[in-house]
Amino acid sequence: MEISTAQKIVKEHLEKIGYTKIETEPMHAFLHLIEEVGETARTLLYKETPRGTIKNTTDPGNLKDEVADIFWQTLKLAIYLDINLEKAFIEKYEKNLKKSH
Ligand SMILES: [Mg+2]
Repeated sequence: MEISTAQKIVKEHLEKIGYTKIETEPMHAFLHLIEEVGETARTLLYKETPRGTIKNTTDPGNLKDEVADIFWQTLKLAIYLDINLEKAFIEKYEKNLKKSH
């Protein structure tokens, strides 16, 4: 799947559930992205460090799911900011290539 297709799927989903009428500001999408980054951090802490031996009150998420959540929220943020993430990614990749040579 191409990034533009994934971004279209997220946009259509948000519109279908009426989410875009409830939360419309890029700040909302950004906060949800940070929330997912935090969930990933929590999952890593409990699965990959000695902290995992401490009894947790809530279940840490599945790492694969959490990383997918970050991608979802990144796509959502790009939608709210009116950024074509596939195009932006390619442009940024080309800039990085020039920097490394
Ligand atoms: Mg999550």
